[in-house]
Amino acid sequence: MKYYTELARHDGNSTLFEVVEMGIISMLWNIPLHIHAEGLRGTGKTTIMRAARQIMPPIVRIKDCLYNCDPDHPHCPNHRHLSKEEIAAIGTETVPRPFLEISHSAKIGTIAGSIDLKKITNTANPEAALLPGIIPQANRGVIFVDEINRLADTSPEITDVLLDVMGTKPGRVQIEETGLPVVELPVQVSVWAASNPDEEPGPLQEIRRQLSDRFDLVVEMGRTTSPDAIADILIQSEQKRLGKKEAAKRPVDHSARLQREMESIARKYESMEMPDFLRNYIARLYVKYNLESFRAIEAIQHAALLNCALRQRDKVLVSDILKVIPLALKHRVDTETLTKIMNSSDSKPLGSDTGSPTMDFSSQQKKKKPETFSSEYEPAVNDGIVSSGVAASDPAPKEDRSFFKPFKQLFSGKQEKQAAETADSDPVKASPLTKARRLPDLNLDELIKSEGDFK
Ligand SMILES: [Zn+2]
Repeated sequence: MKYYTELARHDGNSTLFEVVEMGIISMLWNIPLHIHAEGLRGTGKTTIMRAARQIMPPIVRIKDCLYNCDPDHPHCPNHRHLSKEEIAAIGTETVPRPFLEISHSAKIGTIAGSIDLKKITNTANPEAALLPGIIPQANRGVIFVDEINRLADTSPEITDVLLDVMGTKPGRVQIEETGLPVVELPVQVSVWAASNPDEEPGPLQEIRRQLSDRFDLVVEMGRTTSPDAIADILIQSEQKRLGKKEAAKRPVDHSARLQREMESIARKYESMEMPDFLRNYIARLYVKYNLESFRAIEAIQHAALLNCALRQRDKVLVSDILKVIPLALKHRVDTETLTKIMNSSDSKPLGSDTGSPTMDFSSQQKKKKPETFSSEYEPAVNDGIVSSGVAASDPAPKEDRSFFKPFKQLFSGKQEKQAAETADSDPVKASPLTKARRLPDLNLDELIKSEGDFK
């Protein structure tokens, strides 16, 4: 297993690193942040999300409580009526923050919960005999769903449960059993999901728009277009090979330090507020662009605060908002509207300290996604960069990349797709190279693993 800090950050995936770290701060503020990473295979979305659990600070719960009851705010059927003294008598314990996955074949009873038939015979109170499912057991932590577009397509029942969990903050989960009253529980669960919109059944917002809208932020994954980043990965794999011949160097696990750091950031910036002029700016966006989804602007406000906290800055800036607008709106508005919002100078708040980056989303077709939003239009504001190493620094200052153009083309989905089409339609023209596994299709992580196999 790779440590979180060992994973290579580059322009194609750095936004996801930042967003999961924002998600952890949000969890520590007791507000779930629902995150959806979209991208092709091999972009490392599930690897990053799963590895993030290593830097999640643990929770303190009432001893042995399967619902992870907060000793100060017990919510489960077994503990919610108890006094402080009674809870103190049971005791508390520190356990890892839950990170549970929903499999596509799971039954509703496993996901939401069922009645514990064994216990029901021992008590007159059916609530006391619940067997919590995966979702109530993930309280105060994360539920991870891989290939959420496929789940939405094939499991409408589980999708409905997720809609309830994500509908409000905290969410709720209903446990239904024939012949017994429906039991409803509050759950503080962040739903993190991943999908490949280019694979069947297609993008989530086309499969189940309502579920797509429940995600606060959608991160578009890309492969790196920076030769430097790729060279770094190559150096890493080279070192790994050389390391095997000598004494294999064990990577250092920084998880505990990073957990403490996340906690201290969350504590320090918890009471930070959105300045009025920026809140009004968000409100104007809602009205002017007829955004429909109120969740969208709530997500913009909340994520901008998180982005600011992650950078350990005391004041929210325009750049915090501009950074999160595409993450909050990409799945909720059409590309034309998003382009208008990002480009329109009159929608920028007065006293905006950013330049006016010009962006064009209209040329980007659904099937040909931009590599990543952040690299497209990082505001020209030089943020204070987190020195801790928890947060990724903002992408490097814009440079003239024309020198790298030929190299860039190698990684551009468009050209590579065209090349493949030509190759398939005309076998005579097809060169051995185009038949080979194309570089962008390679999972670089996988490459590093198999590297050791070479002598
Ligand atoms: Zn409890």
